[in-house]
Amino acid sequence: MPDAATAADRPGSPRRVLAVYAHPDDPEVSCAGTLARWVDEGAEVHLVICARGDKGRTESGVAADGLVARRAEEADAAAQVLGLTGHENLGYPDGEVDNTMDLRGRLVERIRSLRPDVVVSCDPTAVFFGNRYVNHHDHRGVGFAVLDACAPAAASPLYFVGNGEPHLVDTIYLSGTLEPDTWEDIASTVDRKVEALRCHRSQVGDELDLVGEVVRRRAASAGAEGGLAAAESFRVLRFR
Ligand SMILES: [Zn+2]
Repeated sequence: MPDAATAADRPGSPRRVLAVYAHPDDPEVSCAGTLARWVDEGAEVHLVICARGDKGRTESGVAADGLVARRAEEADAAAQVLGLTGHENLGYPDGEVDNTMDLRGRLVERIRSLRPDVVVSCDPTAVFFGNRYVNHHDHRGVGFAVLDACAPAAASPLYFVGNGEPHLVDTIYLSGTLEPDTWEDIASTVDRKVEALRCHRSQVGDELDLVGEVVRRRAASAGAEGGLAAAESFRVLRFR
């Protein structure tokens, strides 16, 4: 691992990162390689998950409370693998993550309190991926809430008065985008991405070799677009 103080001064290496996603396994699917690399480069990386994960099974007969507890343990294990500074769950039910005043206020409070230079979330404008997948309601809800919480709410003193001192986020990285413009190198961390995703056994099941294959294949595919061996792709907004 490089020296933290030196690495955090490298151009492009954030000092403090806040990732905000809908479901407990979303960051591992979307951006875990990049988060782990930023951790290695000396960044503090915090994670906020909005939904409890209570509907994350397709078969009937699974008790929601047991699933929530199991998924919380899985999220703890994955956070350890990635070396996150902190992670929390806001406790909304699955399927009910909307861009509300309540969610925006809570995100503004976290942004003003943690004061990240980089915020990572999902691109809410992506609805259809090919003709076989509609982007989940909660992914779109959290993406719009994050955008609105960052710009302009968190930076503007007259929004959410009482939720902390204003803070301007420098950069927003949006994963799950149809319009990528930035490819982050995850060659050094793709193994940790695989290991972190494997922590979410309630979601990925027992075919752990297949998880590794799929993650590496997607990383190679994104890497080919960005001229790298392994990458995660993002749409990036810069505010300064
Ligand atoms: Zn999700």
